[in-house]
Amino acid sequence: MIPYGRQSIDEKDISAVDSVLCSDWLTTGPKVTKFEESFAGYTGASYAVAVSSGTAALHCAVHAAGVGPGDEVILPPITFAATANAVLYQGGIPVFADIDSGTLLIDPKQVEKKITEKTKAIIAVDYAGQTCNYNRLKSIAKANRIKLIADACHSLGAEYRGKKVGSLADLTVFSFHPVKHITTGEGGMITTDNADDDRHMRIFRNHGITTDSHQREKRRSWHYEMVDLGFNYRLTDIQCALGLSQLEKLPGFLCRRRIIAGWYDSFFNKIHGITPLTVIDKINHAYHLYVVKIDASVFPVDRSVFFDKMRSKNIGVNVHYIPVHLHPYYKKNLGTKSGLCPVVEKEYEKIVSLPIFPSMTEKEFEQVRDAINEIIWRQ
Ligand SMILES: *Cc1c(COP(=O)(O)O)cnc(C)c1O
Repeated sequence: MIPYGRQSIDEKDISAVDSVLCSDWLTTGPKVTKFEESFAGYTGASYAVAVSSGTAALHCAVHAAGVGPGDEVILPPITFAATANAVLYQGGIPVFADIDSGTLLIDPKQVEKKITEKTKAIIAVDYAGQTCNYNRLKSIAKANRIKLIADACHSLGAEYRGKKVGSLADLTVFSFHPVKHITTGEGGMITTDNADDDRHMRIFRNHGITTDSHQREKRRSWHYEMVDLGFNYRLTDIQCALGLSQLEKLPGFLCRRRIIAGWYDSFFNKIHGITPLTVIDKINHAYHLYVVKIDASVFPVDRSVFFDKMRSKNIGVNVHYIPVHLHPYYKKNLGTKSGLCPVVEKEYEKIVSLPIFPSMTEKEFEQVRDAINEIIWRQ
């Protein structure tokens, strides 16, 4: 099976992890700081806080944004459930805003419509690796004195008007799950230019305690204070060594993803009834996913038949995502139902993610292409 995404690990990654295993620090130590500094440097943000997953990163960001019981947070439903779940962790209320049908990115006009006195933040999701309209979203956030959080789990390395993802919103969240651009096994990061938010999140990821054991060792002191109710969301030195090694290869990974996306683009130019997502001007796409829409009124089969046929040909297609507001938990606890976001619900029926990952070969691309051609000929 050709998967829709997979990690690339080489000998350098393995020896980086090996050397930490033989060192004094397995968890919070010098590699965490190094990874954070390198990551901040890469994204152009002032601060970066490493945490144990993208989901933990979302929770930290929502907490730093001051979201508490009853506060509303506006976000698109076409995302991984964790984006909305992080709001619930804080007792907040996810408010779903509809998307643009071409890009599947949150529609700033719909965001404006959903703002109330209880709105505390917006979470924009850079779906598939394309950046949202940060100019518009930032001015909406500013005008309403609320925080703009970017869920950039798909868009590490993407650029918007010449600026890297990581410093486009008040708080930007990344994931290092193996299918994402770089991996630490599990892991996440939040970037920000705000020193208070940085300090706040460092405390939150470590039980609400003001110093970590590495800092205490350096100061030769046992004293610490718990000032907030936090969590254990720490990322280990073992994982950060892998992250540092992966980060060095990120430009090459991005380059491969863009080349593969180019192959798909030229192929789909000639196919009726399958359209890639719209790519907007002035952005540099990070292509975490390559998503196409199957138009069942033109293409010989609909999305679900297409999906089954591709899987039977060992092509690991996937669907990102079931709209969050249609999950049973949300329906039951938040009273959401279909009809809430008509554009999301309509586009969801058409979308399929095709394989894309840095080590994908031209031959594997041709297998995907031939499988699609065969579906067309056989109908
Ligand atoms: C992967 C992902 C997450 C969660 O990240 P984990 O590291 O798996 O916790 C959140 N939001 C989006 C959009 C993602 O793709």
